[in-house]
Amino acid sequence: MKVIIIGGNPAGLSAASAIRKAHADWDIDVYEKGEYISYGSCGIPYYVADSVKKIDKLMTLTPEILEKKRKIPVHLFHEVTNVDFDKKQVLIKKLESRTEFTKNYDYLVIAVGGKSNIKKINITDKILHHPRVFRVHTLEHAKKLKQFLTSTPIENVVVIGSGYIGLEMIEAYEAQGVKNIILIGPRLNFDSKSQEFIQKELEKHHIQIRLRVRVQNVEIISENKLKVVLNNGESITTDAVQLSIGVLPATDMFRNSKLEMLPNGAIVIDEFGRTNIENVYAAGDCATSYHTILKKNIYLPLAPIANKQGRIAGEHIAGKPTDPFGGVVGTAIFKVFDLYCARTGISENQAKSAEFDVGSTLITNNEIAHYYPNAQKMSVMLIYDRSTHHLLGAEITAPSPLGAKKIDVLATALAAHMKIEDIQKLDLSYAPPFAPVWDPILIAANIARKNLK
Ligand SMILES: Cc1cc2nc3c(=O)[nH]c(=O)nc-3n(C[C@H](O)[C@H](O)[C@H](O)COP(=O)(O)OP(=O)(O)OC[C@H]3O[C@@H](n4cnc5c(N)ncnc54)[C@H](O)[C@@H]3O)c2cc1C
Repeated sequence: MKVIIIGGNPAGLSAASAIRKAHADWDIDVYEKGEYISYGSCGIPYYVADSVKKIDKLMTLTPEILEKKRKIPVHLFHEVTNVDFDKKQVLIKKLESRTEFTKNYDYLVIAVGGKSNIKKINITDKILHHPRVFRVHTLEHAKKLKQFLTSTPIENVVVIGSGYIGLEMIEAYEAQGVKNIILIGPRLNFDSKSQEFIQKELEKHHIQIRLRVRVQNVEIISENKLKVVLNNGESITTDAVQLSIGVLPATDMFRNSKLEMLPNGAIVIDEFGRTNIENVYAAGDCATSYHTILKKNIYLPLAPIANKQGRIAGEHIAGKPTDPFGGVVGTAIFKVFDLYCARTGISENQAKSAEFDVGSTLITNNEIAHYYPNAQKMSVMLIYDRSTHHLLGAEITAPSPLGAKKIDVLATALAAHMKIEDIQKLDLSYAPPFAPVWDPILIAANIARKNLK
C-alpha cells in the first residue's frame, strides 16, 4: 500500500508512526513544506521569551531519526499544491528547485494544520510582509521575531488578538525588554467574570489593554513605525505589531473540491478520521472535532487533539482495531505572567446560545491551606444546566499550575456526564501544600448546589 501524508507535525507524524508500527512494508511518504518537523508550536512563546534558548529544543524528532528509527521518509520543502481525488494523485512542488511531480496513493492523510487568521482585519500583503509585522504560527515566524527582538531594541509593541496566544506572547515581549505593550481584542480569552482576574494580572505588569474594540487598519508610517487604527477613532503609533487574531484551517487548496468542510474550511471527519472521500483521512488543526456537549462538529485547534486524531487515523488505515475518537469537551490551559488559567466545556454565553437553562457559580478560595507559605486565592467558576443539574463547563484562574490543573477533574466530570451533586461527592486529595481541606472544586459545587435549591 502507498500512503501519502501531507504535513509533518503532530497529526501527520502520529498517523505515519501508527501505520508503520502495523506495516513494516508499506510505502509511507510524508511531505512537509517547511524546514522543520515534529515541533511544538506551543513552545513558541517560551522560545521568544528566551526561557527556551535554542529552537532545536522545541523539536521531538528530526527527519534523520524518523527515517532511521521508524523508516518513515520525510520530504522537507515539498509542498503539496493539489490533490486529484478521482485519480488518487497529489501534485507536489519541490520548493528549492521549483520543480513539480505527481505521486499516487492508496490512502491519503491530510494533516496540513492551521494558519494565522488575518482575514479578520483589513490587511494588505505589503503590511503583512513588513519587517515589523509579526505572526507566531510557525517556527519560521518565531525565529524571525526573536531575531528582531534580540537585535533591535524597541520601546513598544501592539499585540492584536487577546486569545491565549496573544496573552502568552505578552510575557515574551516583557522578557525581551519591551516597555510599552498594548493588547487589543474583544475580550480576555474568557467571556465571563474570570476575565477580571486576567485583567488585574495584566495591569500589575503595566500592560495597556484595549478591549471591545476592533482594529480597522494597520498603516505603514515609515520603515520603523506603524500605525494601528481602531474602530473607536484611536490611532496607536508603534515600533512593531503582532497579529494573533485566531487560527483557520490551512485548507485553501481544497476550497473547490468535493471534500466536505465547515464554512471556515475545517475538513469534516468522523470518529476514525475519515473524510467524505474514500481512503482520504484528515486530522489535527485542519479538521473538525465532535463536541460532546454541543453535540456538533466544531473547530478546536489544539495539540492533544491533533496527536490523538492522527494516531486514530493511522491505526484505522492500518486496519488495526482502534477505539473511535471520543470527541472533545473543550479543555484548554494557559498562563498570563503569574496567573494560571484553564477552561473546560462551554462558557456561559455558549450555553445560553445553545439554549440550555444556564446557571453559574463563581467562587474564590485559597488554593492551598491558608496557613501554608504563599497561600493565595484561586477562582473556580462552574457553569451548569439548572433543569438537569448537569455540569456544562468550568473556568479556573489560579496562582500556580496546581490550581489550574484542577480543570482536569472537571473535564473528567464532563466526560462522565456528572451532575453538580456528583461533583460534591468526589473524594479529592488533601494535604496542606496541595489544597485546603475543602478543595475549591468541592466548595464551588457546594455553593452551586445551594444556588440550585
Ligand atoms: C504559538 C502557539 C502556541 C500554542 N500553544 C498550544 C498549547 O499550549 N496547547 C495546545 O494544546 N496547543 C497549542 N497550540 C496549537 C498546536 O500547536 C496545534 O494544535 C498543533 O500543532 C496542531 O498540529 P497539526 O499537526 O494538526 O498542525 P501543524 O502543527 O500546523 O502542522 C501542519 C504541518 O503541515 C505543513 N503543511 C501545511 N500545508 C502543507 C502543504 N500543502 N504541503 C506540505 N506541508 C504542508 C505545515 O508546514 C506544518 O508543518 C499552539 C499553537 C501556536 C501557534
